[in-house]
Parts: sequence; C-alpha cells; structure tokens
Amino acid sequence: MSGLDPKDPDFKYLGVDRKALLKELGNVTFDSKKVCWVPDEKEGYVKGDVISREGGKVTVKTEKGEEKTLKEDDVQQMNPPKFELYEDMANLTFLNDASVLHNLKQRYIKMLIYTYSGLFCVVVNPYKRLPIYTNSVVLKYKGKRKTEMPPHAFAISDNAYSNMLQGDGESGAGKTENTKKVISYFAQLTALSGGKEAAEAVDNKKGTLEEQIVQANPVLEAYGNAKTVRNNNSSRFGKFIRIHFGPAGKIAGADIEFYLLEKSRVTSQMGGERNYHIFYQLLSDYAKQWHDKLLVAPDPGLYSFINQGELQIDGVDDSEEMKFTDEAFDILGFSAVEKNGMYKATCAIMNMGEMKFKQRPREEQAETDGTAEAEKVAFLLGVNAKDLLQAILKPKVKVGNDYVTKGQSLEQVNFSMQALAKSLYHRMFAWLVARVNQTLDTKAKRQFFIGVLDIAGFEIFDFNGFEQICINYTNERLQQFFNHHMFVLEQEEYKKEAIDWEFIDFGMDLAACIELIEKPMGILSILEEECMFPKASDTTFKNKLYDNHLGKSPNFGKPKPPKPARQRRTSSCTTTPAPSERQQGAHGCDVFPSNGGDAKSGKKRKGGGMQTISATHRESLNKLMKNLHSTSPNFIRCIVPNEFKQSGVVDAHLVLHQLHCNGVLEGIRICRKGFPNRLIYTEFKQRYSILAPNAIPEGFVEGKVVSGNILEAVQLDKQQYRLGTTKVFFKAGVLAELEDMRDEK
Ligand code: ATP
Ligand code: MG
Repeated sequence: MSGLDPKDPDFKYLGVDRKALLKELGNVTFDSKKVCWVPDEKEGYVKGDVISREGGKVTVKTEKGEEKTLKEDDVQQMNPPKFELYEDMANLTFLNDASVLHNLKQRYIKMLIYTYSGLFCVVVNPYKRLPIYTNSVVLKYKGKRKTEMPPHAFAISDNAYSNMLQGDGESGAGKTENTKKVISYFAQLTALSGGKEAAEAVDNKKGTLEEQIVQANPVLEAYGNAKTVRNNNSSRFGKFIRIHFGPAGKIAGADIEFYLLEKSRVTSQMGGERNYHIFYQLLSDYAKQWHDKLLVAPDPGLYSFINQGELQIDGVDDSEEMKFTDEAFDILGFSAVEKNGMYKATCAIMNMGEMKFKQRPREEQAETDGTAEAEKVAFLLGVNAKDLLQAILKPKVKVGNDYVTKGQSLEQVNFSMQALAKSLYHRMFAWLVARVNQTLDTKAKRQFFIGVLDIAGFEIFDFNGFEQICINYTNERLQQFFNHHMFVLEQEEYKKEAIDWEFIDFGMDLAACIELIEKPMGILSILEEECMFPKASDTTFKNKLYDNHLGKSPNFGKPKPPKPARQRRTSSCTTTPAPSERQQGAHGCDVFPSNGGDAKSGKKRKGGGMQTISATHRESLNKLMKNLHSTSPNFIRCIVPNEFKQSGVVDAHLVLHQLHCNGVLEGIRICRKGFPNRLIYTEFKQRYSILAPNAIPEGFVEGKVVSGNILEAVQLDKQQYRLGTTKVFFKAGVLAELEDMRDEK
C-alpha cells in the first residue's frame, strides 16, 4: 500500500499498518488444522480449538468454553492471523461465511468501513461522521490505482472515472450517503483542480455547476425523503444521476431520472414515521416569515395528513433544514416565484387534509362541512374554490361523447381528496426534478458520463401494496443485473480468453421471478388489465392471478400468514390493486397538463386513457437497464450493521442475512472457484520479471511465453493460474503471494 503513510493523520480510518500488525502478531503459532469457526446462536460464529476429529465429526472447545461435537461440514476453516483486517476478502486463503463476517466485523470495530471483496466493494454503515471524505482525502485518491490505496468509495469512483453504478441494499444501509460521497468526490475533484473557471458563479446566490450538482440533493431529499422506522432519512424514491464530462474530463452537466416516489405517504404514515421532510420544514421557525402567505399555522400536530406518526426526528432541526433547503433552491437558480409556487402547493396539500365533508341524509351525495379550508386550498393553488368543490363533490365524467355530472358519496369524496393530494405531490416532485435538470443542463459538450444509481431497497411488510411490488420488482431487476455481471459475464470473460474453465451455474438466476411479474399475462399486466374494468375488485384480480399462475410457477404461491417484519425475500408475490394505480387527472395548473397525458412522460395511450403507473415504470426501468448494460458498472454493496442505528455494533445474523441475500457471499465464492485477479501480459512482465530474471530470454518474446516462464521458474502450482489470450489469470490470494515474493527480493 504505497499510497498512504501510516503516520499520515488521514490514515486512521482508512488503512491498516500491516507491518505493525504483523509485528504484534509476531510469534502467535497458528495451525489451520487445530482451529475452526463454530456456528453460534448469538455471534454467528465463534473461534473453536479442535480437540479431536473422527468419522466426519469434529469435537471442539469454543472460546466461550463450551465443548461441542459437530459434523466437519458444519464448522468452517479459519484464516491465519496475517489475514486479520484484510482489505480484499477475495485474497483470503479460506473464503467462507465465517471468515467474511469476521473480517468485516473486525474492520468495522476499527471503523474501517470499506472492504473489497474481489469484484466489488462492501461498506458497513458507520452511523457516525468519519473524517474520510475531506478534500485532503480526495486528493490522495485522485488518479491512484485501486490497489494502491485502502478501500474507499473514492477509489471506486476514481477507478471508474468513466462509469459508475451503485447497487442496492437494505433501508438504512447507506446507499444514499455513499451516492452523495461519490458525487461530491467528482465535484470536489473538479473544483480542487479546476482553477478559476469552475469557481466562478454567475451571481452571488446562484452556485457553480459543481455546487449545483451537490445541492440538488437537499431539495430532492426535502421532497423525497422521510423518517421511517428503519431510517431517519429514508429515500422514498429511486434516482439515477448522471454526471456528464467534457472531452477533457471536466464536469459538463448532470441530469437526474427518478423512479417510483412513494405516494401513499403524502396522506398516511405508520406509527414512528413521518410524511416528507418538507412539510415539517415549512411549519418550522425558519419558515415563520412565510406562514401568513402560505396560510398555515406553525404546528404540524394540527394537520391530519402529516400528524399520524411522529412530528420530530431526534437530532434533526427542521428549522435549520428549511434554511438549507431554501438556500439550495437559490444555489440551483430557482426564482422567488418558483420557490413560492412549490411552497404554496406543498401547503395546499397540507390544507387539503383539513377540508371537511359530510354525507347528506338519505342521499348518495356528500357536501362540504364548512368551506374555509377549501378556500385556502383554492387560493394557494390559484384556482376557483367553487370549481374545486364542484370537481370533488360532483365531478364531470365522460359518457360517450358527452360529459355528465356524477354524485359522490362521502367515502368517494374523501378518496378523491386523498388521490388529488397524492397526485399533486407526485407531479410537483416530477416538476422539481425537471426544473433541477434544467439548471444542470449547461449545453456544454458532453463526451462521457458517470451514472450513480440509488434506489429504495427491498421491502416486505405485513401488508404489501402496489408500491411494494414495484419497489421489489425494481430490486429484483437490479439484483439480476448484479448477478449477471458477477456470475455470467465473469465466466464469459474466461471463455473469451480461452482459458480452461467449466461453466458453473451459481443458481442465482432471477429470470423466472422477473418474468412472472412483467411478462404478458404476468402479475403487472393482469393488474393493468383489471384497472381498465369498471367492475374489477381485489377478488377478481386475485382470481385472475390464481387462474393464470397458481401451481405453474415456483415463484408464485398463495400468501402465507404474515412473517416477522424483517423477512427480506419471499418467493411468492402478493399485491392488492390499489386504485391509485390509475393516474388521476385534473385541470387548471402547470403540473396537470390539460391534454390528459402523464405530466412526466407526456404520454397518452391510443384509446385516450392514461398509461398505468406500472406500465410507465416498466418502461423507465427497461430504459435504465439498457443504459446500465451500456456501461461498465461498479458496485458498492451497503450493509446495515444493526437495527438500532448504533455505531460500532454488529448484529452478526443481520449482517450474514444481507450478505446472503445480496449475493456478496456467492460473489466471493465465484472468486474462490474462479480466477478473480488478472493482469495483461505486459503489465505482469513488468512487475514480476524481478522474480525470475533468468527466465527472461533475450530479444523479443511474446508476453504470454515470458509470463509462463516466470511462473514456472517460481514453481507456482499450475492449478493456481491460467494463461489466457491476452491476460494471465490467478486464483484468489496468488497475487498477494507473488507480491510477498517481490517484497523479499
Ligand atoms: P433507504 O433505503 O432507507 O433510503 P439508505 O441505504 O439510503 O436507506 P442512508 O440514508 O444512506 O441509507 O443512511 C442512513 C443513515 O446512516 C444516514 O442518514 C447516516 O446517518 C448514516 N450513514 C450512512 N452512511 C454513512 C457514512 N458513510 N458516514 C456517516 N453516516 C452514514
Ligand atoms: Mg436512501
């Protein structure tokens, strides 16, 4: 690790002083036959000393002092002490669950949160600010090779200067935080080396392009993040941010695509949760200056759309956050009119929740119970109050070519109000993203881009609605992308290089589940069809699903009784046809274009009806996938260490569960079986000729031949490497051995 000196103050949370560590371990005797990892209810695995082995069984004494006899297959081999706090787990001598867990845990306790595992990077949420994202650290990673510096998101970013992608993870695992670090890395990098040009702002409020890219986050988070039980700042939408670079590698602009903003939260929250941050920010002290204009009172407890769970977040000052949001709007170049428009629409939604209706006796018709709130809403939205009420109480519907008014019951009216609030919020969010994109589009020449993807992780609740199937379907597609990359493309590379290799099926193909959801007559298409039938109900939907899929696919089954909330992956998919699946239309303001199309995509279906949310989502997901397939992705797998947001505490089973589900362990397994490290011949020759100077013939000799000679001269076991057409491939750990040999020379 030549890139960093152990005496450097930045070293503490980044690197391991391996020399000092080895000295410390000094004369520890280690015999891999005499120790092993023993499964443990609480710790995942504990160390055990082998007392005896007989007939496939092993008797051990654990570090807790217990004596146990287990099957050989149930204990796992332990790595020699020199592998403590190892930076790339693919190089461990023994790659197994216990060793991976042990390594991640030991590193985490030292707050070394990033670790490589061969082909990707793992990060464990530190739940505290670490001094590892500073300018000084940025400069250290700049232009360095991955192996030269300790593991870090910056190394991945720098390494992938042309392409970068972030994978998924459990809620609260750190996806969004790492996305922000990656983006700020590029912004800092360009700002630090960009000189004057980059630092010049157009006017004093508006920021530089780099600042604007970074500041897009606070506004998106104010409108798209919320407190959930799991995460105080949970992203309730997915995003794909592309940073574009000009021919000289300078930032030339950016754009943001968003996916699936959770709409149900706008009108209802579970216990312990909140609505989107912006609502509470707008009622905070800082926003007092605007309260008269916004027709709100400074008490979130008064508003039924936002007071169903918590009102505050520990350690978060909504007033201060409001200030940041407002300033971020300025930096992004939003005008006072635009900001005001957003705030007014947001407060209109809050006031919508206070509009009261009652049922007329002996009639199928509801009426208002006081009009003051409706007047506030109408004022804030700039519409006529009478029209607004008319549209809600007696909406016009099209019958053939004519419009007729339709009476609405109290239930229907309340439903419409909620649908309107949700739809308005969603369209406001879409407008916000489009407006931010307008700022980030500089018209400068674009040559490359780095995409950073951050989506909402898998969700399984006792009651799973339409939003869950969309989120989980998205995750399934991305996990499939990851798996394909790890398990298929990796092996295709072996084939391409013509090395001796038997294709292994890792059983990680999710195609069957994905097809069940998205193919014609799959779950989503049946749902979409049902939405077109006026008489469709949950039951007719369910029956259609059963008719088409029950017993025909291992991924489809009847729902089982609710499982504990943390179950992450199930093989059956259940959903209910939430009526919000149909996109509601309305008239009168910017976010509801009167052509009846979808505000985001501007799409109108042939029959005049609107495209369903799931169909729109499927399309945008397909576009994303196509985009991803055109890139060379890098993955940062984010791990949540415990359920209490506590720094330094590892819940072994929770971590193991995530490592299994997200393919980290399988990914490491392919490293064990395959040849995870490779070097092109010229590079190998340059670095390792020193090991066997006599093996290098004079004059020109093909790199492949020279490399083969070197490896033979050092008497490396033939099973440990393969000579491909252009590269030499090594089993995990071999390169580390060669490095040791090189150090001894
Ligand atoms: P969700 O799926 O709910 O959006 P997420 O994976 O995006 O979750 P984050 O919001 O990134 O999770 O992280 C949750 C919290 O953990 C953050 O608000 C922050 O407090 C802490 N955290 C995560 N990563 C880091 C980090 N690298 N340094 C410091 N704190 C972090
Ligand atoms: Mg997030």
